[in-house]
Amino acid sequence: MTKLKGNKPLDRDYFKYKDSPKRHDDTDVTSCCGLDVDHRVLNAKDKEDWVQIENHIEDYLRDYKSTESIIPIICKDCGRLLEYITILKQDSTTLGD
Ligand SMILES: [Zn+2]
Repeated sequence: MTKLKGNKPLDRDYFKYKDSPKRHDDTDVTSCCGLDVDHRVLNAKDKEDWVQIENHIEDYLRDYKSTESIIPIICKDCGRLLEYITILKQDSTTLGD
């Protein structure tokens, strides 16, 4: 089904948005995780980005001895990195119960 041009009024809005189909009053956030689509964030689906995520975690673990592990929270739909959750080492006195 092809849509014919014409047969409709061409108003100011038509020309305003002709070259930029993405209207500004639309929310430019991802529907899955609500992040700004124009904001470049690391994406776990991207091989190079994932390496960066790994490197960041590796560096952090090296610098912060009290950190046991870090969970990169990834949007399961688009793969964007949302946040890191830091797991601190358990105090050895609280273990064993
Ligand atoms: Zn997402």
